[in-house]
Amino acid sequence: MKEFQRYDKNYHLNNARSLIESGEIRSLRYACLELRMLIEAHVYQRLLAEIDELPKSIINTWQPSKAVRLHTQFDKYADMDFQLRLEGAGDTLEVNYNNIKSSDLIKIYNSLGSYLHLPMPKDIETFAIDKEKIIKWCDKLQRLTEGNLIILKINYITVDCMQCGKPIIYTDHYLKNQSKIACQNEQCEIEYSITNRDNSGVQLSADCNHFSCHVCKAQIPIPLKNITNGHRFNCLDCGTDFEFKLIVHSNTPRP
Ligand SMILES: [Zn+2]
Ligand SMILES: [Zn+2]
Repeated sequence: MKEFQRYDKNYHLNNARSLIESGEIRSLRYACLELRMLIEAHVYQRLLAEIDELPKSIINTWQPSKAVRLHTQFDKYADMDFQLRLEGAGDTLEVNYNNIKSSDLIKIYNSLGSYLHLPMPKDIETFAIDKEKIIKWCDKLQRLTEGNLIILKINYITVDCMQCGKPIIYTDHYLKNQSKIACQNEQCEIEYSITNRDNSGVQLSADCNHFSCHVCKAQIPIPLKNITNGHRFNCLDCGTDFEFKLIVHSNTPRP
């Protein structure tokens, strides 16, 4: 797969190491950028391996810290290490996948990012880039470049969105830990409360007002937050397009 080769963690690690060695403040700043790219390569490579199964809301999140936080809501193995043992003919071979806990990843990613900006006026006198800290992060992130990508497949389930009709993806792990879920269709993103969860599936509810379709008279649920100027939707039954238009009535008496 071509995309895998595009995410080259070793390339960014080596760049960071040589920039740290030079030690100037300018180089240290670029080293932070390289380490952020290493984290991005690690996260994107993992997501790419399941690009067809994962909710679009995870795949389309460009910030790795946010994508990882979302991913761990669905997949409890998303930030875990794995070891695969190959046993046979009295011999054992071990393959490791080194991962990083999402909380650590988010902390390091954000801390590295803080060095990519100019200091705010209130910090200008005390601002410094801590070389030792960057070396520590570099050492910690190095293990992400070692080993092989290993994935434990989990079961993704879907339920249709009542608003747009597109499937909303969820997992058992998600249901256990979350009380709300948003439709992953970017044109919709309606948030539902998860009201019931059992073996037969999941039941969702959103705070809605119902409008009657002008053409087929079907009831169309519109979440309260979408009852706003310019919101477009269509009837799921007959496909008629609708749009809210706000008309402002002035209270000033006409001359
Ligand atoms: Zn939807
Ligand atoms: Zn209709």
